[in-house]
Amino acid sequence: MLAMPSSYVQPVLGWYADNARDLPWRAPGVSPWAVLVSEIMLQQTPVSRVLPAYAAWLGRWPTPAALAADPAGEAVRQWGRLGYPRRALRLHETATIVTEKHGGELPSTYQDLLALPGIGAYTAAAVAVFAFGRKHAVLDTNVRRVLARLESGREFPGAQVSAAEYRLAESLLPDDAGVAARWSVAVMELGALMCTAASPNCPECPVAAGCAWLSAGRPAAETRPVGQTYEGTDRQCRGRLLAVLRDSREPVNQARLDAVWADDVQRARALDGLVADGLVDPLPDGRFALPA
Ligand code: SF4
Repeated sequence: MLAMPSSYVQPVLGWYADNARDLPWRAPGVSPWAVLVSEIMLQQTPVSRVLPAYAAWLGRWPTPAALAADPAGEAVRQWGRLGYPRRALRLHETATIVTEKHGGELPSTYQDLLALPGIGAYTAAAVAVFAFGRKHAVLDTNVRRVLARLESGREFPGAQVSAAEYRLAESLLPDDAGVAARWSVAVMELGALMCTAASPNCPECPVAAGCAWLSAGRPAAETRPVGQTYEGTDRQCRGRLLAVLRDSREPVNQARLDAVWADDVQRARALDGLVADGLVDPLPDGRFALPA
């Protein structure tokens, strides 16, 4: 018979106490702004690449007001090669709203955070929990995978977060908000380090005794999450075009952009997309620049 859900909490907290990575956004006294920056950067980028970018970003803009005082294009430039650069624009928009409407302090409730640009359900919950000690289910990819295996006996969760997953995650939260916050980050870490997508380390897992998927003999999923390709995609083309603009302090002409991508049709499509996303400004003289 499988263990009751509440029996997960202490083993996972104990494992986390011994195995948690020393990450700067988890340090005591880290500001809510720093927590938000880390969460936005970590959405689609691995920890190893986020670490230097996080330090540089907060070194330059330690508060929302500091970022809001600079042009949006500087946020895009500073974002560098982290990928998905619309995140930089959304952070700049958020910094401006926080400065103008919230007295320079991030709001602390889930609903108020959710109203800010680029902050979805996961990020609002994560900031409310990790920066403000509120009690919410925090469901990122790692947590969803752990819970799917532990509770549903499936190797991977579905493509979209379901209401049932939210109910399960809420039901597992310890009563005390502080313990609940620690549980949330601990399960996340368990998914990142132990219950990984490709090679879960079940023999050393602290909740192996209660794991439905392990108990069922680790049946393979019929469909597996597929990794995103990058080479030759519009995303790669956009990255090349944006790199030209980031590396130049002056607006650039069309020929500079043409030189970094051979396919005319794809390059034009990518450039149109960058302009539509507000990441590139087409100037009246025909040149292009990062947004003002
Ligand atoms: Fe994941 Fe294996 Fe632990 Fe189950 S026993 S939670 S599959 S690492």
